[in-house]
Amino acid sequence: MSLIEITEVRKSFGSNEVLKGINLDIEPGEVIAIIGKSGSGKSTLLRCINGLETISSGAISVAGAQFIDDELHLKALRLKVGMIFQQFNLFPHLNVGENVMLSQKVVKKTPKQDAEALARKMLERVGLAHKFEAYPDELSGGQQQRVAIARALAMQPTALLCDEITSALDPELVSEVLAVVRELAAEGMTLVMVTHEMKFARDVCSRVVFMHEGKVHEIGPPEEVFSSPKTPELKQFLGMTA
Ligand code: ADP
Ligand code: MG
Repeated sequence: MSLIEITEVRKSFGSNEVLKGINLDIEPGEVIAIIGKSGSGKSTLLRCINGLETISSGAISVAGAQFIDDELHLKALRLKVGMIFQQFNLFPHLNVGENVMLSQKVVKKTPKQDAEALARKMLERVGLAHKFEAYPDELSGGQQQRVAIARALAMQPTALLCDEITSALDPELVSEVLAVVRELAAEGMTLVMVTHEMKFARDVCSRVVFMHEGKVHEIGPPEEVFSSPKTPELKQFLGMTA
């Protein structure tokens, strides 16, 4: 059994069918890059995987638990699958440590002492243990995104979804965030990331998924997808002459 099983998933917004029968099985420890044009359904797919969106048909299961379309199951799914966004969404009035502790306390009812110990450990993992007392606006964008990663890790997720997490960063701050992701990958975390960082995808990912018009148009190991794309759509996306 795969860690994440996506079977014939369809998703419509009104009459606009955005996901048109997605099939994708992800093994534990895999690092998947999702690439594709804007509007091809990448973010929607991630949001369906962690239950931020309900699916119109098909099935998603994570670690054997079938995603069924009710609040209880969606909540359970969100607990298992962490998600990090382009915008870091830290609470400006809370310090870094409090930001990392908040979901643990509110969602998991973790006692304060345990939540704090875990927050310190996760901040250490992203190289920011010394910023526990700092406020978000005292940090660079790269540091804020690393705090967002620590916050997701503090929920001890089975898998982590990343939606263009370096796209809002100044170019010189991208590498510090990617370095953290690279380390998580090396530690065996299952990662599904929508990214424009093709070099990173080539270096770190086990498979690359090219989405086009709501479908998985091509999928394969990075050397195959990037070096010998099969379809004109992928060739065009990669800037090769079709
Ligand atoms: P990508 O991440 O690949 O750019 P998205 O998944 O964000 O693509 O969007 C795919 C399509 O779904 C777009 O046409 C977008 O307008 C539409 N869409 C996404 N979210 C919503 C929503 N909440 N309501 C209506 N349409 C949406
Ligand atoms: Mg998107």
